[in-house]
Amino acid sequence: MASQTFVKTRLMTPGPTTVPPAVLLEMAEPIIHHRTKQFQAIFAEVSQRLQRVFRTEQPVLTLSGSGTTAFEAAQISLAKPGSKVLTIGAGKFGERWQDIYDTYAEVLGLTENIKLNVPWGQAPTADQVDEVLKANPEVSIVTLVHSETSTATACDVQAIAKVVSQTDALLLVDGITSVGTMPVEMDAWGIDVLVTGSQKALMLPPGLGFVALGERAQKRLEEVKPRGYYNLDLRKWLKSWQKQDVPFTPPVSLIRGQRVALEMIEAEGLENVWTRSRLLAQGARAAFVAMGLKLISDSPSDSVTGAFYPEGINDSKFRAGTRDDQGIHIAGGQNGRGASWKGKIFRISSMGYVDSGDMLAALTAIEVQLIAGGHVIKPGTALAAVAGVLQ
Ligand SMILES: *Cc1c(COP(=O)(O)O)cnc(C)c1O
Repeated sequence: MASQTFVKTRLMTPGPTTVPPAVLLEMAEPIIHHRTKQFQAIFAEVSQRLQRVFRTEQPVLTLSGSGTTAFEAAQISLAKPGSKVLTIGAGKFGERWQDIYDTYAEVLGLTENIKLNVPWGQAPTADQVDEVLKANPEVSIVTLVHSETSTATACDVQAIAKVVSQTDALLLVDGITSVGTMPVEMDAWGIDVLVTGSQKALMLPPGLGFVALGERAQKRLEEVKPRGYYNLDLRKWLKSWQKQDVPFTPPVSLIRGQRVALEMIEAEGLENVWTRSRLLAQGARAAFVAMGLKLISDSPSDSVTGAFYPEGINDSKFRAGTRDDQGIHIAGGQNGRGASWKGKIFRISSMGYVDSGDMLAALTAIEVQLIAGGHVIKPGTALAAVAGVLQ
């Protein structure tokens, strides 16, 4: 299909994701000053809508920065000096939260960063967490990734939260590719801190990070004094939030766009969004398996799906093909301590502004490029498999 002169781009990477036209239009509105009633009304509305997406009655803070900014802020603001932290790694992002505590260990006065690592593609379990916490009652923080985007794997946050809530430790959950796309019940499951970023399921450009703070986390902020950080001090963000305000100049346009994106989520219904994402991911998994590919996860997430390349497929050629010939932009693999998946896998997203037409187009493009690379499959295999799920 290289003879095509017009290619419509579909961004199917697991962040950033496609931004709906209504959100783009809203962000083109003139900049207003943030210390005004007009901005405060928008901010208050956004905050309330965020609480509904996070399934919490507690504050959801909106920080300037990416998802990493938001998670780092939570990690450093909440750790207790003289305590241990437990950081669970099962992919690139869990390993990042391990690195952040290594970086700050001295400044924060941490005595140990206990790293619980499970093989990439597997989910950590409540029993594994329970065992470490029983042996280490001085742990003050547990970090966990709900949907590990690098391995397309979801874990049982509800079961792990139950274990952690019986201790003095706070559970910090990276929900960056779960909030707004998969069921996560912050209050009902007893999650202490839940984080996401704007460019994944919330259908916005990159640039905002969100931190929801449960009651135990708010109490911890009062008990612990900040040390070695300033802008990322959640005490400042929480204090401003209580007046429906922000401590520093916010990305006003993004917050305007966010109001519209959250309105769209509520108009569809959050549960309907979860169902849509789940069906699209199930369709992707069915198509990959039908094409003879091996999934990268034993416990697949519904926001991102990944597969190992079959023999003979070249990663950069394959992904350049789907992107340049068919307009389907998908992601490759990542390297970390637990695995080196660059060049070995590819991943597609089912988060945010994506429908069955997008998924059919993406899976067909993948099939075409696999065939072009010499993988033997009957044309139409992907379509038949995904149609079986979506019908
Ligand atoms: C994208 C992602 C991050 C990092 O977010 P940034 O916005 O790039 O900082 C962290 N965790 C998970 C699970 C992600 O998918």
